[in-house]
Amino acid sequence: MTNEIKVDGACYCGKVTIDGSVSADKVMACHCTDCQKFSGAPFRAVAVMSADNVTIGAPVQEYLKVADSGNERVQGFCGNCGSQIFAADPQKTLFMVRTGCLSQHDQLVPVKHIFGKSAAAWLGSIDHQQWVTDGPASAEMEPATQK
Ligand SMILES: [Zn+2]
Ligand SMILES: [Zn+2]
Repeated sequence: MTNEIKVDGACYCGKVTIDGSVSADKVMACHCTDCQKFSGAPFRAVAVMSADNVTIGAPVQEYLKVADSGNERVQGFCGNCGSQIFAADPQKTLFMVRTGCLSQHDQLVPVKHIFGKSAAAWLGSIDHQQWVTDGPASAEMEPATQK
Protein backbone atom coordinates (compact mmCIF):
# COMPACT_ATOMS: atom_id res chain seq x y z
CA MET A 1 0.00 0.00 0.00
CA THR A 2 1.62 3.21 -1.10
CA ASN A 3 1.26 6.47 0.69
CA GLU A 4 -1.37 8.68 -0.99
CA ILE A 5 -0.75 12.41 -0.55
CA LYS A 6 -3.62 14.88 -0.89
CA VAL A 7 -2.47 17.95 -2.77
CA ASP A 8 -3.79 21.40 -3.48
CA GLY A 9 -2.34 24.54 -4.89
CA ALA A 10 -2.56 27.21 -7.52
CA CYS A 11 -0.53 29.13 -10.05
CA TYR A 12 1.26 32.31 -8.98
CA CYS A 13 -1.72 34.63 -9.61
CA GLY A 14 -4.23 32.19 -8.12
CA LYS A 15 -6.48 31.93 -11.18
CA VAL A 16 -5.77 28.25 -11.82
CA THR A 17 -6.31 26.03 -8.79
CA ILE A 18 -5.24 22.41 -8.49
CA ASP A 19 -6.73 19.74 -6.24
CA GLY A 20 -6.00 16.07 -6.21
CA SER A 21 -4.07 13.21 -4.72
CA VAL A 22 -0.88 11.49 -5.73
CA SER A 23 0.78 8.29 -4.71
CA ALA A 24 4.14 9.08 -3.06
CA ASP A 25 5.91 6.76 -5.50
CA LYS A 26 4.63 8.77 -8.50
CA VAL A 27 6.77 11.83 -7.94
CA MET A 28 9.68 12.35 -10.33
CA ALA A 29 12.16 14.96 -11.41
CA CYS A 30 12.78 15.32 -15.12
CA HIS A 31 16.09 16.66 -16.38
CA CYS A 32 15.33 16.51 -20.11
CA THR A 33 16.24 19.52 -22.23
CA ASP A 34 12.56 20.20 -23.03
CA CYS A 35 11.76 20.52 -19.31
CA GLN A 36 14.76 22.80 -18.88
CA LYS A 37 13.50 25.08 -21.67
CA PHE A 38 9.82 25.11 -20.71
CA SER A 39 10.58 25.86 -17.09
CA GLY A 40 13.61 28.06 -17.58
CA ALA A 41 14.94 26.04 -14.65
CA PRO A 42 17.49 23.23 -14.27
CA PHE A 43 14.76 20.56 -14.01
CA ARG A 44 11.05 20.06 -13.43
CA ALA A 45 9.58 18.05 -10.58
CA VAL A 46 6.22 16.44 -11.30
CA ALA A 47 3.49 14.51 -9.53
CA VAL A 48 1.93 12.00 -11.92
CA MET A 49 -1.84 11.81 -11.47
CA SER A 50 -4.56 10.15 -13.52
CA ALA A 51 -7.38 12.42 -14.71
CA ASP A 52 -9.67 10.91 -12.04
CA ASN A 53 -7.32 12.08 -9.30
CA VAL A 54 -6.84 15.69 -10.26
CA THR A 55 -9.05 18.73 -10.78
CA ILE A 56 -7.73 21.77 -12.60
CA GLY A 57 -9.98 24.61 -11.42
CA ALA A 58 -9.90 26.93 -14.43
CA PRO A 59 -9.15 26.77 -18.14
CA VAL A 60 -5.45 26.87 -18.91
CA GLN A 61 -3.52 28.04 -21.92
CA GLU A 62 -2.14 25.10 -23.86
CA TYR A 63 0.88 24.53 -26.02
CA LEU A 64 1.11 21.29 -27.98
CA LYS A 65 4.66 20.00 -28.00
CA VAL A 66 5.42 17.58 -30.84
CA ALA A 67 8.58 15.53 -30.35
CA ASP A 68 10.79 14.35 -33.23
CA SER A 69 9.18 10.95 -32.70
CA GLY A 70 5.75 12.49 -33.36
CA ASN A 71 4.78 12.06 -29.71
CA GLU A 72 2.46 14.87 -28.62
CA ARG A 73 2.34 16.42 -25.17
CA VAL A 74 0.01 19.16 -24.02
CA GLN A 75 1.78 21.76 -21.88
CA GLY A 76 -0.76 23.56 -19.70
CA PHE A 77 0.04 26.93 -18.17
CA CYS A 78 -1.81 29.89 -16.69
CA GLY A 79 -2.71 32.34 -19.45
CA ASN A 80 -2.52 35.19 -16.96
CA CYS A 81 0.71 34.70 -14.98
CA GLY A 82 2.47 32.03 -17.08
CA SER A 83 2.98 29.50 -14.27
CA GLN A 84 3.31 25.99 -15.61
CA ILE A 85 0.57 23.75 -14.32
CA PHE A 86 0.90 20.37 -16.04
CA ALA A 87 1.92 18.28 -19.03
CA ALA A 88 -0.47 15.64 -20.32
CA ASP A 89 -1.13 13.31 -23.23
CA PRO A 90 -3.48 14.83 -25.88
CA GLN A 91 -6.41 12.76 -24.51
CA LYS A 92 -5.66 14.12 -21.04
CA THR A 93 -5.77 10.83 -19.21
CA LEU A 94 -2.51 11.28 -17.30
CA PHE A 95 -1.35 14.57 -15.83
CA MET A 96 2.15 15.45 -14.73
CA VAL A 97 1.49 18.31 -12.35
CA ARG A 98 4.34 20.70 -11.52
CA THR A 99 5.04 20.26 -7.83
CA GLY A 100 6.19 23.87 -7.40
CA CYS A 101 2.53 24.96 -7.66
CA LEU A 102 1.44 22.56 -4.91
CA SER A 103 1.31 23.49 -1.22
CA GLN A 104 2.69 20.05 -0.32
CA HIS A 105 5.80 20.34 -2.50
CA ASP A 106 8.03 19.70 0.52
CA GLN A 107 6.49 16.24 0.93
CA LEU A 108 6.63 15.47 -2.77
CA VAL A 109 10.08 13.96 -2.88
CA PRO A 110 11.11 12.61 -6.26
CA VAL A 111 11.56 8.83 -6.15
CA LYS A 112 13.33 8.92 -9.50
CA HIS A 113 15.33 11.38 -11.57
CA ILE A 114 14.70 10.82 -15.27
CA PHE A 115 16.76 12.02 -18.26
CA GLY A 116 19.75 12.26 -15.95
CA LYS A 117 22.00 12.26 -19.02
CA SER A 118 21.08 15.93 -19.62
CA ALA A 119 20.98 17.01 -15.96
CA ALA A 120 22.90 20.14 -14.92
CA ALA A 121 26.30 18.87 -13.79
CA TRP A 122 26.41 21.15 -10.72
CA LEU A 123 23.29 19.63 -9.11
CA GLY A 124 25.36 16.98 -7.38
CA SER A 125 27.36 19.60 -5.49
CA ILE A 126 24.42 21.76 -4.37
CA ASP A 127 25.16 20.94 -0.71
CA HIS A 128 28.61 22.50 -1.05
CA GLN A 129 27.45 25.81 -2.49
CA GLN A 130 26.71 28.93 -0.45
CA TRP A 131 23.15 29.17 0.88
CA VAL A 132 21.51 32.23 2.43
CA THR A 133 18.05 32.54 3.94
CA ASP A 134 16.56 35.22 1.65
CA GLY A 135 18.07 37.66 -0.88
CA PRO A 136 21.77 37.66 -1.86
CA ALA A 137 22.84 39.75 1.18
CA SER A 138 20.89 37.74 3.80
CA ALA A 139 22.18 35.44 6.52
CA GLU A 140 24.09 32.29 5.71
CA MET A 141 22.40 28.99 6.43
CA GLU A 142 22.99 25.28 6.12
CA PRO A 143 21.88 23.88 2.75
CA ALA A 144 18.18 22.99 2.64
CA THR A 145 17.72 19.52 4.04
CA GLN A 146 14.81 17.20 4.15
CA LYS A 147 12.81 17.32 7.38
ZN1 LIG B 1 -1.88 32.39 -12.85
ZN1 LIG C 1 11.34 16.42 -19.12
